[in-house]
Amino acid sequence: MFKRILIANRGEIALRIIRCCREMDVETVIVYSTADKDSLAVMAADKAVCIGPAKAAESYLNQDAIIETAILTGCEAVHPGYGFLSENAAFARKCEENNLIFIGPSADIISSMVDKQSARQLMIECGVPVVPGSDGLVATAEEAAHIAERIGYPVLIKASAGGGGKGMRKAFSREDIEYAFETAKSEAKAAFGNDDMYIEKLIINPRHIEIQILADKYGNTIYLGERDCSIQRNNQKLLEEAPSARLCKDQRTVMGETAVRAARAAGYYSAGTVEFVVNEQGDYYFIEMNTRIQVEHPVTEQVTGIDLIREQIRIAAGMKLNIAQEDTCVNGHAIECRINAATPGVIKFLHFPDGYGVRVESHLFEGYEVSPFYDSMIAKLIVHGKTREEAIRKMISALEEVVIDGIDSNVDFHISILNNKRFREGSFDTSFISEEFGL
Ligand code: ADP
Repeated sequence: MFKRILIANRGEIALRIIRCCREMDVETVIVYSTADKDSLAVMAADKAVCIGPAKAAESYLNQDAIIETAILTGCEAVHPGYGFLSENAAFARKCEENNLIFIGPSADIISSMVDKQSARQLMIECGVPVVPGSDGLVATAEEAAHIAERIGYPVLIKASAGGGGKGMRKAFSREDIEYAFETAKSEAKAAFGNDDMYIEKLIINPRHIEIQILADKYGNTIYLGERDCSIQRNNQKLLEEAPSARLCKDQRTVMGETAVRAARAAGYYSAGTVEFVVNEQGDYYFIEMNTRIQVEHPVTEQVTGIDLIREQIRIAAGMKLNIAQEDTCVNGHAIECRINAATPGVIKFLHFPDGYGVRVESHLFEGYEVSPFYDSMIAKLIVHGKTREEAIRKMISALEEVVIDGIDSNVDFHISILNNKRFREGSFDTSFISEEFGL
């Protein structure tokens, strides 16, 4: 096992990793920006090094400063968390070149997956169903129109480098193509510095269902059930649950085995997630693979009893997976609500719920200033119950207990979702929030 690792992240995920390292007797060094100097993660790590100003480009994305800090502080590995450099192949390669272990898959695997169009090709080659679409990149709106005619409208024009729901536009007919193509392309250029585009058929009212996998460096790959992340706003996840109310046991097994096949085809190791959209008939299609730990990983932890961060670190250290597929099972039901700040500001009073089956992952404390520089997520509230209904009731009760004074948050919105009839019945898809709440 590692003696010391560097954490190249902030907020709740940095704390989550630090706590896990403590349990494993691994020392932690955290890098931080001036905006985070009074943060919990900085206080909790064994050592903290300021690497730049608030602007992420000059701190959390400053690859050389992070590598240099890792070397100078005697770290053997770097945990990137999620976001920032977690799916940056160039950074993973720099770690490799400097004899630092990147806690994630190899740079080569990241580059084959991070480009969605190339990941799609790889999936086609290994027989994983993908959404019908273009065979490769699409250079012009005219070409896009051509492909749309072939696969049939409606279509979704997507950026190969896309993420966080950015760089995608729907087109329902030929008239929409130019505008959809050009706006998606320029959004991608601005957000990712890469405007490679491809096209998929727009699946109508799909569920977003993803499979968590774990794979070691010796070819052992397992799946840990699914997460249903269909509750989204602007293609961004808001509430996730496991298991999905939509899948039956056989579908779960088939999708799990497909995800394992996809991971094996990529020579994948580390924790990872294979994302699918599932249509009303239950057909599932690969959309992308995330080669990092995800925000919603706790719901899988709650139902499987497996600490995913711990496994991710063990795998990176070259240890064998000591869980076989037949030893895994999904117990009860877990839900996660992402609590986001609507505005920056100082937390004047804070109270989080607690109790049986309630888990909070947050970096907030009284007096903490929610800065405008980073992601607006300030807490994750996770509950675990025997059944879906029990988990929903527990979540409502937990949310009702939350007090975050000083800023506005989406706590009440989560309560409205959980009280919604369609949500209760489990009959929802990715258009749920826009249909039910007009957002
Ligand atoms: P990102 O990396 O930006 O999150 P994804 O490819 O994972 O992009 O897609 C984000 C969301 O967009 C999905 O969860 C789903 O709701 C929607 N989506 C993506 N592809 C399709 C598709 N072909 N048809 C319908 N919805 C889609």
